[in-house]
Amino acid sequence: MFRKILVANRGEIAMRVIRACRELNIATAAIYAECDATAIYVKKANEAYLVGPGPLQGFLDAEQIVGLAKRIGADAIHPGYGFLSEQAPFAELCQQAGITFIGPFPHTLALLGDKVKARELAKKIGVPVVPGTDGPVRSVEEALAFCRSVGYPVMVKASAGGGGRGLRVARSDEELVAAMESGAREAQAAFGNAELFIEKFIERPHHIEFQLLADLDGYVVHLGERDCSIQRRHQKLIEIAPSLVLTPRLRAEMGEAAIALARAAHFHNAGTVEFLLDQDGRYYFIEMNPRIQVEHTVTEQITAVDIVQSQIWIAAGRPLMFGQHEVSLQGYAIQCRINAEDPQNGFRPSSGKITAYLSPGGIGVRIDGAVYKDYTVPPYYDALLAKLTVRGRTWNETVRRTHRSLEEFVLRGVKTTIPFMMKIMEEPDFRAGRFDTSYLDTHPELYNYEHVREPEDLVAALSAAIAAYEGL
Ligand code: ADP
Ligand code: ADP
Ligand code: MG
Repeated sequence: MFRKILVANRGEIAMRVIRACRELNIATAAIYAECDATAIYVKKANEAYLVGPGPLQGFLDAEQIVGLAKRIGADAIHPGYGFLSEQAPFAELCQQAGITFIGPFPHTLALLGDKVKARELAKKIGVPVVPGTDGPVRSVEEALAFCRSVGYPVMVKASAGGGGRGLRVARSDEELVAAMESGAREAQAAFGNAELFIEKFIERPHHIEFQLLADLDGYVVHLGERDCSIQRRHQKLIEIAPSLVLTPRLRAEMGEAAIALARAAHFHNAGTVEFLLDQDGRYYFIEMNPRIQVEHTVTEQITAVDIVQSQIWIAAGRPLMFGQHEVSLQGYAIQCRINAEDPQNGFRPSSGKITAYLSPGGIGVRIDGAVYKDYTVPPYYDALLAKLTVRGRTWNETVRRTHRSLEEFVLRGVKTTIPFMMKIMEEPDFRAGRFDTSYLDTHPELYNYEHVREPEDLVAALSAAIAAYEGL
């Protein structure tokens, strides 16, 4: 087993990896930027190293990170999500330095990081994909011809895209031409690759994704699915497990398809195969994410499998310890992304000092947090402050418990998604399980809420008093 893991990430996911390592008795080294020297994960790691220059460069500088790992005697690197987690050259650099990259091999990363190639692989092995162009589109004429043949609306996608970026819906020839132009520009700037392809736009689908674990012997299991249909601008806000709409037969079939894809890609690590499920119950592969995902927590809560520890075991060469028939899904789980964003102002990011913090607790409540009272939220990173994951025996119980937990949650000083999440937990369609990816656009009433709530003020005052007392 590894002796020391360098965690090449920050915030809640760095904390998540550090927790897994602690339980496995593996030492951890964190990296941080100057603006984040007081972050929780920096304090909780066994060692911490300043990387730079500036707030971002250090997390993206493969040579610096691998050099550091060698210098401090780390035998593995956990990339978390985002940053370098899907970069084949980074995995290759690790390999050359004799350091284990906790993720798939470079050629698998390169394959899956290219949505066009991943689609081709799915097609080759008989997994349905969204009707789309055969490979990248090379000219506007080619794009127009395709769209006229399948009909609008369509979605223009960046081959190298991710994180909900590089996606554009077009409903006419004019919109298509505009989407191609701005899409290519954005893709070049964001991913260093302007290649685009086009898919038919599926109306009101569910986003259903399967969590996989695959070991180095080629053994693959799935841990069931998540429904991540509650999205804003193609970015997930709330994730649930299991789906409320999959039948056991469909679950088995889609799970098999996901496993077949992982095998065909020679994949090992924890990974996710994403599908769209349309209103007629047909499913289509959209992409595979070869890394840990933000929403892995809901699967952990209903399967009791530690996915991050599994990643580490797998990277260390240990075969999976259980088979598909031993995976059972117990109850329901809901994850709310507590972001430093203001939903009432177009989800504008909010940074600054946290003036009060008290996380909820009680039965079925899990917090994966990265902040505390007096921590200053830097403006440079994505807005995720904490993840609230709640489990219950039934869907209704889980929704009610999530609402209760959000009500308890005190987080002051920055605007957060907490009140908006509470509105969703109160909303009849959500409570009845009637939602798809159009949910937020079709429920404008969710944005009507008041900010200041008195019971929270009382709890905040109490928590400050307790903190002051403990500090004596
Ligand atoms: P997904 O939406 O694919 O499920 P997650 O919700 O797990 O991904 O988010 C992973 C994080 O990594 C997010 O912060 C997302 O913005 C970021 N991310 C993922 N892929 C990319 C990419 N290709 N470029 C930039 N950021 C990315
Ligand atoms: P990313 O790599 O940014 O996560 P995805 O291809 O996974 O991009 O798509 C993100 C989201 O965009 C999906 O969850 C879905 O809501 C929407 N989406 C993607 N492709 C389509 C499509 N063909 N039709 C309708 N919605 C789509
Ligand atoms: Mg995706």
